[in-house]
Amino acid sequence: MSFDAIQGQTAAIGTLTRILRRGQVHHALRFEGPDGVGKEMAAFALARALVCTAGDPLGCGQCSACQRASSLCESPPVPMHPDVVLIERGLYPPELLGRRSPELQDISVDQVRKLVLERTPYPPHEGRARVFIVRRADELSISAANSLLKTLEEPGHDTYFVLLTSRPARLIDTVRSRSFRIRFAPLPDAVLLGILERHGIPQPQAQEAVALASGSASLALSIVDADSAKRRQAFVDAALRAIGAPDMVAALDVADAKSSDKRVLRENLEALAARLARAARADALHDGPRAGPMAMRYQIVLQAMRELERNASTSLLVENMMLRLRAVAG
Ligand SMILES: [Zn+2]
Repeated sequence: MSFDAIQGQTAAIGTLTRILRRGQVHHALRFEGPDGVGKEMAAFALARALVCTAGDPLGCGQCSACQRASSLCESPPVPMHPDVVLIERGLYPPELLGRRSPELQDISVDQVRKLVLERTPYPPHEGRARVFIVRRADELSISAANSLLKTLEEPGHDTYFVLLTSRPARLIDTVRSRSFRIRFAPLPDAVLLGILERHGIPQPQAQEAVALASGSASLALSIVDADSAKRRQAFVDAALRAIGAPDMVAALDVADAKSSDKRVLRENLEALAARLARAARADALHDGPRAGPMAMRYQIVLQAMRELERNASTSLLVENMMLRLRAVAG
């Protein structure tokens, strides 16, 4: 993750790159701002810059330290670089923290002891620095926050904290007063639209999501995800109803309701194919190897998807597919 990839945060990124170039990074930074505006990306970019071994004050992005700082292990999903440490409620299995129960309410004092306080007396494993990134720092329990105070104040050489929060008022005063605030603003609509466009979201849907997203990229993406899931479900339900309906009217309704946007139609057809494939597998378990009606219908939908790739007319394509699906004797 590089600073260049973070959009719409000119002031925050300007401050961070300036203090990095001058070598004047505060040992406890607090990134405040709504969720989904780039705080975490900026924290990772900062961590990478601090551990880079190639001497680039903003992180070269090429050296092993840079690469491992921005790659995650599988489970738990934490940075591969041992000196970039993620703190988050529930991120680590309880047994690793010496707990019996998962962290349901807050970031426990156990996590702070195990991951922070046990390390800070020693120098960083490798790299030039050690960086603790605390996700949703406002979820630190009172005892966890108190146990951090001394370390936040005198973290020791080459140790940095980045506290991320969208609810800074919930941080205890003593943590706030020991950390240096960098504000992240809600993202401008144009930036959000650009992000949704790169995710292949068509314009009208993107604009609706942006209007509801309050400047948050993650919220805008979850809105279009939920919209798309609902839309795919509606298409699948309508198609299945139409397959079993006594006349063609419902089937023609499905053809009318189909999207003229090919990407959307492809997603709808994929969802229908997945549903039919599940039904076909259930049939096969029941009836043995003979291809049942669901397997035949699944093949018809796959055929329609191939025709879509060959630029068939979308309305004729859905109508033909529905005719063929209905012709399969159930
Ligand atoms: Zn590097």
